[in-house]
Amino acid sequence: MIETIASRAWEGERLNKEEALVLWEKADFYTLATLAHHRRLALHPQSIVTYVIDRNINYTNICISGCRFCAFFRSPGAEGGFVLSQGELADKIEETLSLGGTQILLQGGMHPDLGLRFYEDMLRFIKEHFPIHIHAFSPPEIVHLASRENLEIEEVLRRLRQSGLDSIPGGGAEILVDEVRSKLSPKKCSSREWLAVMESAHTLGMKTTATMMFGHVETLEQRLEHLLALRELQDRTAGFTAFIPWTFQPDNTALKTKPATAMDYLRTLAMSRLVLDNIRNLQVSWVTMGSGVAQVALQFGANDFGSTMIEENVVAAAGVRYRLSVEQIRKIIVDAGYEPRQRNTFYELVAMQVNNHEGHKGHEGNLRS
Ligand code: SF4
Repeated sequence: MIETIASRAWEGERLNKEEALVLWEKADFYTLATLAHHRRLALHPQSIVTYVIDRNINYTNICISGCRFCAFFRSPGAEGGFVLSQGELADKIEETLSLGGTQILLQGGMHPDLGLRFYEDMLRFIKEHFPIHIHAFSPPEIVHLASRENLEIEEVLRRLRQSGLDSIPGGGAEILVDEVRSKLSPKKCSSREWLAVMESAHTLGMKTTATMMFGHVETLEQRLEHLLALRELQDRTAGFTAFIPWTFQPDNTALKTKPATAMDYLRTLAMSRLVLDNIRNLQVSWVTMGSGVAQVALQFGANDFGSTMIEENVVAAAGVRYRLSVEQIRKIIVDAGYEPRQRNTFYELVAMQVNNHEGHKGHEGNLRS
């Protein structure tokens, strides 16, 4: 049976849930790598691995969600809580542009007191002063805002878009199975709501990414359900540009589980490439896995190295501090046998610009992009 499924996967045929689960549970490591890389080459025959230069900016860490896996947030009134001023925002964006950056990933906690006007002002301020793509506000933030303002999700998205929002990151998906979400983040939006925000954004013509945070309390079958939910929506909207699976990091969080192994990560990446036959780009997670595993991941279906992450706070708060400069990322890609190319948010190659990034060593990673 496994040979039949593997041969269907090799031919690029769509795997159903039962077939995918058998492959995931039973196929050996090299078979999964071979199948996933074959699919990667069918989608991206050129020997190119892309990356984006961007900065993760957290406009606030104040959050009422209290997710058990999060080491980043502060409860309202707690010491260390912040909301960035427009001046602080401007300094960060200026530095990003000076380093050749093309986008900012702007995300925050679910702040109880920031209304839609705050977000509209922030977006307008950025667009009035900087030529930069704003990839911002993951579905839980949108759902929180809609509920706070008593507005429909679509109306919130429309107003944010009018103010300058360009695209939406796929954060806050964790595992799109409510049984898992109720254990991890009971106050966050449901799977249905997460998918509804993305569907609404796609319908309005916006592109988004999708993520999966795994390796905590979920089963393989639940990971697969997550992938299938994304595939089903993508069939209808074609709005996801990329999928980014990343592993849960337990330090400083309320969840005491062991982090996923490199083998588990690579197998999951390969299965993502095979199941998500309608999402073109698959991103490695060097921030949580480190550069060595990320390099190997380029043989497990991934075609994108993700972001240079000039700044990152969320994963760093969970004790993981991998850092890579643009030069290091390019060298890792070259050493793996590919040509590194900078891209923009829409996965279009940007003209080669050799910025002097030598001094740009302070990168940490964030996720949820
Ligand atoms: S993951 Fe996001 S929503 Fe959850 S507690 Fe952290 S900042 Fe808040």
